[in-house]
Amino acid sequence: MSESKAFVKADFHMHSLHSDGSLSPLALIDLACERDVTQMAITDHDTVSAYAEVAKCPEMANTSVQLITGCEFSCLWSGRNIHVVGLNLDLQNPGLSDAMAIQAKARTERAQTIADILSRNGFENTLEGAQANAAGGTIGRPHFAKYLIDAGYVKNMKQAFKQYLGAGKPGDVKANWPGLALACQWIRRAGGVPLLAHPMKYGLTLTKLRKLCDEFKAVGGQGLEVISGAQDSVKTDTLAALAKDFAFLASTGSDFHQPGQPWAELGKLPALPVSCTPVWHSWQ
Ligand code: AMP
Ligand code: MN
Ligand code: MN
Ligand code: MN
Repeated sequence: MSESKAFVKADFHMHSLHSDGSLSPLALIDLACERDVTQMAITDHDTVSAYAEVAKCPEMANTSVQLITGCEFSCLWSGRNIHVVGLNLDLQNPGLSDAMAIQAKARTERAQTIADILSRNGFENTLEGAQANAAGGTIGRPHFAKYLIDAGYVKNMKQAFKQYLGAGKPGDVKANWPGLALACQWIRRAGGVPLLAHPMKYGLTLTKLRKLCDEFKAVGGQGLEVISGAQDSVKTDTLAALAKDFAFLASTGSDFHQPGQPWAELGKLPALPVSCTPVWHSWQ
């Protein structure tokens, strides 16, 4: 059997405690093994620190799952937050370390701005609360949301995002994120593959989504998440057609954050449509 035809059960998008996930990197790997995942990537928001933790555990070299390096980069395009997943990154690349430092600074500064805005809305100590929830990982809006819930300001995550933190709400602060070109440059220079994350989650019309694909391709983007979580098959077909039109590689990922989340469980994903060129062909 040629290598490219080897059986692959993949999940290339998930989060650990190093960003806004609830499990440690090692627990993610264990869960992936339990579910017979053969290739996985931990794609924390704007950090690759999970891989340093894994590297400290030599027994992880003998697991049944192949761990591909990855990161989900926060970007800005046309005034929107767009996420680009970089896979198969050389973690020793100095440019990547610089990129991580730039993203960390943008996150820290944004957190302060979010806290200032929430304070003006009558919510106290949100920065300290969110920092405690992030527990040293990259700080994000879910950490603020959890604080608002625990402090009794809102009932649940849904309400926190709907009223205060989601798109267009006061806490949706446009951070100093890079454009698509810079994110793609960071990823490509580290030998990685830049992929447009969860393309159906931005609320774009098909025309706008095509424009995004066009610009992403022009600046070095190489693929799309054709499968993202438990999306319906109509969306998958649309994305498979887009991938074909743009000659994009196709990736698949659950965007797993915690057990029991509504959108998808780790490793439980439909197969990529046969028309797609799987992203793992680029490193197999
Ligand atoms: P940030 O990385 O700080 O920009 O926050 C984005 C993260 O917030 C996403 O990766 C999700 O984990 C989470 N998120 C975004 N929208 C929602 C929502 N409506 N409900 C719950 N979590 C959300
Ligand atoms: Mn997240
Ligand atoms: Mn995302
Ligand atoms: Mn994600």
